[in-house]
Amino acid sequence: METTHMTIGGRVAAVVDTFPVENPADAEVFAAAPAATVEQVDAAVTAARTAHPRWAALPIDGRRAHLRKCGAALSAAADEIAALLTREQGKPLVKARAEVELSATWFSDTAGQDLAVEDLGDAGAEIRLQHKPYGVVAAITPWNYPIILAVCKLAPALLAGNTVVLKPSPETPLSSLLMTEVLCEVLPSGVLNVVSGAGPVGRALVEHAGVDKVSFTGSVQTGLAIAASTAQRLQRPTLELGGNDAAIVLPDAPVAEIAERLFWAAFENSGQYCTAVKRVYAHRVVYSDLVDALRAQAEQVVVGDGMDPTTQLGPLVSAHQLDRVAALVEQAVAGGGQVVAGGRRLDRPGHFYAPTIVAGAEPDSRLVQEEQFGPVLPILPFDTVEEAVTQANSTTFGLGGSAWGESDRATEVAAELECGTAWINTHGDLRHGVPFGGYRQSGAGVEYGTLGLLEYTRPRVTHVRRV
Ligand code: NAD
Repeated sequence: METTHMTIGGRVAAVVDTFPVENPADAEVFAAAPAATVEQVDAAVTAARTAHPRWAALPIDGRRAHLRKCGAALSAAADEIAALLTREQGKPLVKARAEVELSATWFSDTAGQDLAVEDLGDAGAEIRLQHKPYGVVAAITPWNYPIILAVCKLAPALLAGNTVVLKPSPETPLSSLLMTEVLCEVLPSGVLNVVSGAGPVGRALVEHAGVDKVSFTGSVQTGLAIAASTAQRLQRPTLELGGNDAAIVLPDAPVAEIAERLFWAAFENSGQYCTAVKRVYAHRVVYSDLVDALRAQAEQVVVGDGMDPTTQLGPLVSAHQLDRVAALVEQAVAGGGQVVAGGRRLDRPGHFYAPTIVAGAEPDSRLVQEEQFGPVLPILPFDTVEEAVTQANSTTFGLGGSAWGESDRATEVAAELECGTAWINTHGDLRHGVPFGGYRQSGAGVEYGTLGLLEYTRPRVTHVRRV
């Protein structure tokens, strides 16, 4: 069994302790990952602090050149990183490769961004506004898209002149460890460091006095803990948290045309993504047709090992996640919901659950109110649009939402959704230049675009009185 390594201060760090990494497609442990000690977390922060002054002093064009090299290095290593990603996370290899390639492009797109100095002066004073880096950024990531969600943090943080300590999820540490090794070959020592391990390693990093800014993607529960901890130092973390996105399908929606799009907006990555459609409210006029169309989609999708080129959906990431999803379906059915497709574990090794459509679950069932994060979609009928909007806005989340229909009504309904992104006739389309963030318990702050880049900076004003 292979043991992998952390990179701290540009060097391979000693392996003191390890934890097992499992392949969710067969539930077999296939590698050991290093479990960082408190001393190693400290060493990583110290390395990042030491590297910071020189990195921040580089002209932005110098940092841009490094980011482009990062993109090229990632692209060159895409096959190797993607294979590890599929083995530890379960997603189809073609999707893993696409994630790595998107991450490579993210570096080059970020290199094209600017942090211009703004002139705010007048006749009496020369006033400049600069966007300065914080210093050391802790980037803490989840297991569903470990590569792109890390790069969404690394690229803007580095461009802005920060140095970084990355802490990947213990479910999927291997691809991030390899990615960091690859990136460290083209970055100055200490500019990027990685520590792997479970929650306590993340907590040690967040609580470290040498960390100036935390950027976190993960669950609401952990996000709340990080917000409480960083508040002690009056730091404002960037938090991208869970979602329970609703899709409202209006009476004039062309069901046959949208069903496949809607299906994949819910089931991509086996439903394990933050802006997946997690509940559908369909007007009673289109409800039965939509249930039938989604059932047909669910029944024809190919579920299997991500290494099999015919696989469209892989397993869930862990036994824990599978048990949770199965329990939510059982509860919804006990409350009157009807399984029209799937609703069962697959009889094979690994953490597989059949793509599942549940019709008519109770609006206050856990499957509807919580984030299932699995290949299960509840669909509920509604009679009035007001009722659907009220239901859509009825959870503690506010990440994304969508309205589907041909008339302007879809635009009006989307405008009433209380969330960071409202889509019309599509869902979950995220782009480099477009800010993304959640309302309510789905997050604080934004990522992507100019606003996302500014999250890694603090304003610095220089004011000179003209003589
Ligand atoms: P998680 O919160 O359990 O873990 C995320 C990361 O935080 C892991 O690296 C974990 O080790 C670390 N961590 C755990 N406890 C910590 C602590 N006290 N201090 C610091 N770090 C700690 O989340 P997960 O289960 O890995 O990911 C799934 C969740 O992520 C879902 O809720 C999903 O919606 C959310 N997510 C959100 C977005 C978004 O952009 N909004 C994107 C992807 C996933």
